[in-house]
Amino acid sequence: MNPNYEILEQILRLDCEAGSATMEWRNAQKELTALAEKTKSSEELIQKTKTDLSFLEGELRRQYKRIDELEERKAERSGKLFAAKNDDEHRSFKREVDHIDRDIRDATRKSDDTESQIERLKSTYFSAEETLASALAASAEERKKAETAQSESSGKLADIESIRNQHLEKLEPRLNQHYKRVSQISRNANGPIVRVVDKACGNCHMGLAPQVLNTILRGNDVQFCPSCNHILLPPQNQ
Ligand SMILES: [Zn+2]
Repeated sequence: MNPNYEILEQILRLDCEAGSATMEWRNAQKELTALAEKTKSSEELIQKTKTDLSFLEGELRRQYKRIDELEERKAERSGKLFAAKNDDEHRSFKREVDHIDRDIRDATRKSDDTESQIERLKSTYFSAEETLASALAASAEERKKAETAQSESSGKLADIESIRNQHLEKLEPRLNQHYKRVSQISRNANGPIVRVVDKACGNCHMGLAPQVLNTILRGNDVQFCPSCNHILLPPQNQ
């Protein structure tokens, strides 16, 4: 029997282990993404609320400043009103003071609105922070589990790869090179080596010629699928 068959059997076994380690790694990755999604909406809400708050706080500062300015002007005009030399002057200053009073009332109403908007945003902000904190606490353990699974599977993959490389070195160079080329293009979960299943290629399911099958069953030259180029091994219960 061609000794490459025995080595290819070892490599296939490692490829299958690598396939399931990759699956474990992807599942852990998916879990971590799902956990991150859970906290994302609270984080976004917190961010948006912070931006809105600082905008409104700026507005409120401007509104307070305007009220201060109006109060100053009112004081100054009221002084003039008391010092009015005649009825006409008095009437004109009185009108101005009335206008300023109306402006002050408008400005105060605006700043009251802004103050209550800020209050509402603050309570949104605090409850989003609470939601985030409890989501983080609840997911801390799940996250740790997923992270452990992820690092274990990448460790497993690295171990498998180093053993597999040793086997690949023992293969006939032509087969080694063929394996590496097919692994670049293979979409098979367990890589470039497949078993014959029902007289067909285990990857693309193309039926194989009797002489190809005989060669494989006798363990002579290693055969590649004429259609997808995967390396063919005899059926499992051979
Ligand atoms: Zn095939």
